[in-house]
Amino acid sequence: MEEMMIRSEKMSIAGQLAAGVAHEIRNPLTSLKGFIQLLQAGVDRKKEYYKIMIDEIEKMETITSELLFISKPMTDNKQKESIAEMIRDVTELLKPQARLKGITFEWEQSTDVLVHCDRSQIKQVLINLTKNAIEAMEDEGTIHIQVHTSDRQVVIDVIDQGPGISEEIIHKLGEPFFTTKQNGTGLGLMITKQILDRHNAKLDISQNADKGSTFSIVFQKAADY
Ligand code: ADP
Ligand code: MG
Repeated sequence: MEEMMIRSEKMSIAGQLAAGVAHEIRNPLTSLKGFIQLLQAGVDRKKEYYKIMIDEIEKMETITSELLFISKPMTDNKQKESIAEMIRDVTELLKPQARLKGITFEWEQSTDVLVHCDRSQIKQVLINLTKNAIEAMEDEGTIHIQVHTSDRQVVIDVIDQGPGISEEIIHKLGEPFFTTKQNGTGLGLMITKQILDRHNAKLDISQNADKGSTFSIVFQKAADY
C-alpha cells in the first residue's frame, strides 16, 4: 500500500514535469512556426525575425540540456574537495559573462576548506547561483563569495547586489519552470536543491540588510571530519 502510494506520487511529479516541458517547448515552437509563415509570405524584416527565431531555438536548447542533466542518473563521485578550487574554477568560467555587465567577483582566496562532495555537482550548484547573481544585478557591482565554517557546518555564501527576492515568490523558488526572466528556464534552483539533497546539504536564501540577496550552500560536517 505504502509502496503504491509512493509510486503514484512519483508518477504525478513526472506528469507535472512532462506538462511543464511540453508547455515550455510548445511556446517557442508556436512562435517559430509563426515566423516561418511570415518569411514564407515574403516580408522585409528578415534579419529581425531570424534573430527572434534563433533566440527561441536557444531557449529550447537550454531547456533540453538542463533536462538531460536532470535525467542523467547521478552517480556520485564523492571525495574531499577544495572549496577554494571550485570557487576559483567557477569564477574563472563566469568572468566573461560578469565582465560584460561590469560586475566583478570578490572572494577571500586564502580561505580553504575541504568538503566531502561530488566536485562537478557542487560546481554546477555554484554556477547556477553565481549566474543568478549576475542576472539579478544591473550593470556594475560586486558579487561576494564567502566561505565560513563552524563546528558543524561549512557555508558558502553567494552575495549579490540585485533587487532581492519579494515575499510573494520566495516559496516558489526551486519549483520546476518557475522563472521571472524573459529567457529563464526556471530549472537552475531545482537542480541546485536536488544536488544539495544528495549531499545532505541545504540552500538558505536571505535578504541582505542593504541591497540584494544571499544564497548560501550549507554543508553539514560529517562525523569523521
Ligand atoms: P532561471 O534563472 O532560469 O529563472 P532559477 O531556478 O535559477 O531559474 O531561478 C528562478 C527564479 O528565482 C529567477 O527567475 C528569479 O526570479 C529568482 N532568483 C534566483 N536567484 C535570484 C537572485 N540572486 N536575486 C533575485 N532573484 C533571484
Ligand atoms: Mg538560473
